[in-house]
Amino acid sequence: MPNLSFVSPTRNSPWGTYLSQIDAVEPYLGKLARWVETLRRPKRALIVDIPIEMDNGTIAHFEGYRVQHSLTRGPGKGGVRYHPDVTLEEVMALSAWMTVKNAAVNLPYGGAKGGIRLDPKTLSMKELEKVTRRYTSEIGIIIGPQQDIPAPDVNTNGQIMAWMMDTYSMNVGATATGVVTGKPIPLGGSLGRVAATGRGVFVVGREAMRRLNVPMEGARIAVQGFGNVGSVAAKMFAANGAKIVAVQDHSGTIVNDKGMDMADLLAHVAQAGGVAGFKGADHASNESFWDVKSDVLIPAALEGQITAERAQRLQTRLVLEGANGPTTPDGDAVLADRGIVVVPDVIANAGGVTVSYFEWVQDFSSFFWTEDEINVRLDQILIGAFKGIWETHEKHRISLRTAAFTVACTRVLEAREERGLYP
Ligand code: NAD
Repeated sequence: MPNLSFVSPTRNSPWGTYLSQIDAVEPYLGKLARWVETLRRPKRALIVDIPIEMDNGTIAHFEGYRVQHSLTRGPGKGGVRYHPDVTLEEVMALSAWMTVKNAAVNLPYGGAKGGIRLDPKTLSMKELEKVTRRYTSEIGIIIGPQQDIPAPDVNTNGQIMAWMMDTYSMNVGATATGVVTGKPIPLGGSLGRVAATGRGVFVVGREAMRRLNVPMEGARIAVQGFGNVGSVAAKMFAANGAKIVAVQDHSGTIVNDKGMDMADLLAHVAQAGGVAGFKGADHASNESFWDVKSDVLIPAALEGQITAERAQRLQTRLVLEGANGPTTPDGDAVLADRGIVVVPDVIANAGGVTVSYFEWVQDFSSFFWTEDEINVRLDQILIGAFKGIWETHEKHRISLRTAAFTVACTRVLEAREERGLYP
């Protein structure tokens, strides 16, 4: 599928996955389908070289990206990922999913994403700060509170957002809190932001379970990824009566048919750095995670995890996508055949960007809300968005993913049509 000269996606690679999702939504766009090609091309992609002096005096170079997939409905918005496997193609797909996600929950943003190809575990704090500051300066020509607002993603956090905000502010000569979200609270961060994505996974999951008549009490939950998203979601499911029967992270896989104690597991991970070695569960092979019997399976690690082969083995009723792009198109097709419902990433993990939006609004007005106000507004937005997507899914008898894309892409392309083409 060579739609652009500078990437070579395959059917199940991130950009290939996104393109096949656009192919699936096209028949439901009516007259707006004449604009659909705009969704198959990122508006702008910037590749930057990031040279830094390492602690040992040598010079290292890192490759960084910022892709603005769409600015049609508002400024770009999307996280920054630090990972050794980051590529332009991956960042393009992640930026496009942000366009769809922001429109699916009706936030006034386009879609963007950034990343640096590096393994943060191999860098000192000083080196990480230098990489972050130089990257921010290099992409400074396209980001800004009204242009494109980065946020945390895999391996980035509030500290990195603080360095980004400071660097951008130094370059423009004024403190610009609204240039990034996910900041520490004293720098204009929002209460509730850290837990927002995991909270949203829980809220949307609960809505889906209600519609599928899956009781929360005693529901069996399996979670891949026990970082920001997976751990908060697991904690909320457990607090509401569900049982966490399997958890996998980079360190290993643990299972417990009776359910695990989340407070104990969180304390163990804080101390040991991963779930491996947890005394309150049995250890299992990584591949056996996909055979665990569950009611809800939450992939909350990286993309491309639910392949056709794994989808064939899953024993679950509902896949709740905490991660971005965790299911390949081939995996999706198998799940649909088997009647396993998938709540797609663009709605399931939209809680984070929703509270990022609240943070940006609070920064502009310099007036900060209570955590209760944040959570009530977050829940309202997600429940309302899920309802609209569920109704579209029932009306057209299409998957929840294609329904979410229908709602979102209709909003993006309506805005495109109303704005018209420049010049
Ligand atoms: P994180 O870095 O906090 O956690 C990632 C987790 O995945 C860790 O537990 C890690 O051990 C695990 N992991 C890494 N490689 C793995 C592997 N090969 N097998 C199994 N587990 C592995 O990241 P996060 O912020 O929780 O993000 C997780 C996913 O959620 C990503 O896809 C991210 O894009 C998506 N997401 C995050 C946010 C957010 O606000 N943080 C918002 C929307 C979507």
